[in-house]
Formats: sequence, C-alpha cells, structure tokens
Amino acid sequence: MVKPFVAQVPYAEEHPHVLAIYCSDGRFTDAVEELASHLGHERIDTLTLPGGPGLLNRWSADYLESDMVTRAARFLIQGHDIQEVLLLAHAGCGYYRARHGALGPEYVAEQQLKDLKDAANELTQAYPGITVHAYFVRPHGKQIHFESVD
Ligand SMILES: [Zn+2]
Repeated sequence: MVKPFVAQVPYAEEHPHVLAIYCSDGRFTDAVEELASHLGHERIDTLTLPGGPGLLNRWSADYLESDMVTRAARFLIQGHDIQEVLLLAHAGCGYYRARHGALGPEYVAEQQLKDLKDAANELTQAYPGITVHAYFVRPHGKQIHFESVD
C-alpha cells in the first residue's frame, strides 16, 4: 500500500467559529487566510464559489445558485456555531465580468459593493448574534489590499 501524505498542520476537533464567504479565485486564497489570521482566527470555515458573496443576492444572482449558497451558509452558521462571517469581493472578478461586464468596470464595482452590503444586511437580520465584516479586495502591484466596507 502506498503511504499516505501526512500534513504538517495538526487536526483540531473543534470547528472554527468564523466563516469566510469569498470567490474561488485562487489568486486571493492565501491572502484571505492571512487576513483571518490577522483578525485572530487561525482556522476558518470557507464557502467559496465564483462570485462569492454576490451569490447571496437572490435578486441579481441566478436563483438556484443563490438558493444553494444561502442554504450552505445557513448549514455552516447554524451547524458549526459560526459567530463571525467575513464577506469578500475582489477586483477583476470573472463572475461579475461575465454577468455585468458589458456595463463597464465602474458599474461592476458598484454592484459588488452593493452585493456586499446586501449580503451583510441579510446575514445580520437572519442571524442576529453574528458579526459580519465585508471587504473589497484589490491588488496593488504585488500587494493585496483588504478595504473594509462596513
Ligand atoms: Zn472572482
């Protein structure tokens, strides 16, 4: 039998109490984990799909996609006793470009900010005990900036 690969990272039984909802775009994955760590969270639950929190907006996203993401968020928030949610949208998002790109980059950025705020409002109304932080993530040369949208 082939020996399994054994990770350096130890397994911890307890679920993290933070959920990050963000885009699948792997150019930002490590930076999102670094942000979470900076905020004091060594481990996070993640919900990643192209478009990230934009999918929580049932008015602008595809209904089935939005329903699935809303239910997945509920499953994690309730089942894993999530106390804090990080919502992250990023500049140059292919999901938004595909959906709204024809309307120009300014419209896209506006829609992303609106989606972040709507998602934050929906979550805080649905789960009054949780804290929600929203960020717009923007590369500047080799750096990745997280701009708070609260
Ligand atoms: Zn994206």
